[in-house]
Amino acid sequence: MLHGYTPPARFLPYLSWTDIAALPDRENTVIVLPAGATEQHGPHLPCSVDAVIASGVMGHALARLPAEVPAYALPPIVYGKSEEHLHFPGTMTLTGTTLLATVTEIGESVYRSGFRKLLIANGHGGQPQVMEMAARELRLRHGDFVVLPHSVWRMPSGTAAFTSEREKKLAMHAGHGETALMLALAPETVRMERAVAEYPPPFPIASLSADGRPGCAWSTMDFSASGVIGDPTTATPEQGQVILDSLATHWARAIEEVYRLRWVVREAPTWGRGHEQGHVQSSPSRV
Ligand SMILES: [Zn+2]
Repeated sequence: MLHGYTPPARFLPYLSWTDIAALPDRENTVIVLPAGATEQHGPHLPCSVDAVIASGVMGHALARLPAEVPAYALPPIVYGKSEEHLHFPGTMTLTGTTLLATVTEIGESVYRSGFRKLLIANGHGGQPQVMEMAARELRLRHGDFVVLPHSVWRMPSGTAAFTSEREKKLAMHAGHGETALMLALAPETVRMERAVAEYPPPFPIASLSADGRPGCAWSTMDFSASGVIGDPTTATPEQGQVILDSLATHWARAIEEVYRLRWVVREAPTWGRGHEQGHVQSSPSRV
């Protein structure tokens, strides 16, 4: 069945339309949209990493939620904007405009179904901008729609205890964190004997790269022959379980906080005859 890591009772498409129409508190029910990608992750990891991690972490978070907190996952987006990896086979990319339309149209459908809280949990580092643009667009269309675009990695993960300073600073793709988490979520897909480490060279313009990361647009092939940018070689399943527990616990808490959030819809300021017909109808503020 389709639910993957999500408990079946928390998987929205397993409900009928009449079930959804009868949900008691749809405006505060949290809808979770995991957003992943299908793209190369080096020779040791499958191309599905970002989709597995986004849906896996959020599925484990939903499993930890108290029963009285209403929240459901949508099926994950499994194709993303992965153009920086297109020189490697197995990368199936959408353009940014296609992904933007996809997320926006899913969000419209969530709103049309009567929900007012959408959490986008993004697992791919190449597309947070698209998620943020879709979220802002949905908010501008609907003043009572709370849309939260976040990286699934944004919560405390515990990875710092397992990694070198270099890895903390420069790992960007298929490094320790993703590898350890995949060893916990889908160990049968990981080939540790093929794991290699590669890092980008120091960026030559220090004033444009305070953290040492490349201060320019890049493609993975600029820094890596293997497709890895980081060091996955020391990752273990035990570390992955620690990371998974930490992310899922913190995300469960965040989902509950989103459920309890009460958003106040304010009237748009009126500032002149003829200007009040703009498409921004209202703007919310926190209580
Ligand atoms: Zn990834």
